[in-house]
Amino acid sequence: AACAVAECGHTATIPSQAKPTPPNLVIILADDLGYADVGFNGCDDIPTPHIDRIAAEGVRFTSGYVTAAVCGPSRAGLITGRHQDRFGSSVNPTIDPSVINGPPRTERTLAELLDAAGYTSMAVGKWHLGTHPDLYPRERGFDEFFGFLSGGHNYLPGALELEDLSEVKGQWDWYRTKLLHNGFRVNTDGYLTDVLSDAGVEFIERVHRDGPFFLYLAYNAPHTPMQATDKYLARFASINNERRRTYAAMVSAMDDGVGRVLEALDQSGASDNTLVVFLSDNGGAKNNASRNRPLRGHKGDFYEGGLRVPFAMRWPAAMPRGVDYDRPVSALDIAGTAVAAAGPKAEAALFPDKPLDGVDLRPYLSGKATGDPHEALFWRRYGRQHLAMRRGDEKLIMRPGAQPRNQLFDLGNDIGERNNLSTAQRAAFDQLAERVRAWADEMVPPAYPSLGSWKP
Ligand code: CA
Repeated sequence: AACAVAECGHTATIPSQAKPTPPNLVIILADDLGYADVGFNGCDDIPTPHIDRIAAEGVRFTSGYVTAAVCGPSRAGLITGRHQDRFGSSVNPTIDPSVINGPPRTERTLAELLDAAGYTSMAVGKWHLGTHPDLYPRERGFDEFFGFLSGGHNYLPGALELEDLSEVKGQWDWYRTKLLHNGFRVNTDGYLTDVLSDAGVEFIERVHRDGPFFLYLAYNAPHTPMQATDKYLARFASINNERRRTYAAMVSAMDDGVGRVLEALDQSGASDNTLVVFLSDNGGAKNNASRNRPLRGHKGDFYEGGLRVPFAMRWPAAMPRGVDYDRPVSALDIAGTAVAAAGPKAEAALFPDKPLDGVDLRPYLSGKATGDPHEALFWRRYGRQHLAMRRGDEKLIMRPGAQPRNQLFDLGNDIGERNNLSTAQRAAFDQLAERVRAWADEMVPPAYPSLGSWKP
């Protein structure tokens, strides 16, 4: 069983390799996966042995957060290591190729930073960081891309019949485009999750001898549409609810893929010096039968169920094994850790006036640094004028206006956010409210229209 970092005295278990060579980086991103839907967070009806292995051989973050409760903005934060509201990537974008609808070129991506340090990189799966030609993955630092540009996709090969986004005529048509491989359309005949796993494994097998590599494996599973093959559905005959059964099959297919990626790292000898990160881009959604318990709320909410996600890291050469880390960490810290580990060339590629918001988690995991990695974590949902903040165990949710919502929770005693303390602890509430407003004043308005505004 895992133990807390503070209790284990685990620093002795970390190899005494003071300056490891730049690690490989593998980010495995799930889509709308519930906090409670991995074994390492207690899931009891969907076995995820391979995802669990990342936590068992590394660190489970019990308070791992993303920077937005929906896909597009969350991914913009993750891929830049900077809060996306600093540069207006605040909403889920449309697929209009004529507007800059992702992180602008005036921001660096993690792939660009690692490229400066000599990494070979590939993005696989869901991009959702811009359909403008200037924002394609290979324009944003990745050497290779295999996947799709839009925010979701059909899983069954017979449902991928449009040549590209130019054929999209209706709201959800973009789920039906053929996949892209380095700018070329490809025909595929497998279940999408398997096809993406194939691409990730093939990349590792091909490049691992050539220096450090970065694989960004962004599954769209288990985001809607709910589609699975008999191979995976057959594993869950005991689940009566059809939607939950399909969801379980989709998660299980992803878990198989994670297992194959870990196996490819083992076979190539790369596991020891590879930082593997697993997380979801936001909390479980209402419409895919996911579960976020004991957290309140879902994707789209500023309750914990929208923002706190399954989150684990494994890096045998530089991180402890089999521990829990309970203080709040952010998806921003993936870039914070990876860029610091990649060294001065990666750090020098940052724009001087645009430092990362993410931090290097290694000193916190080794016990060298105490306290929280962040003064606070902040969230903004512009369209609804929602603000949220976590500092220590205090969680604030605020919506100004005619029907204001003011909530303050003590997550240390109330992880389910049931007991609103905003009145009883008015001074504490006011102090946090002032802080989150000051943070929001540093942010900019959305730089492009949201998905909801788009008409084919
Ligand atoms: Ca998502």
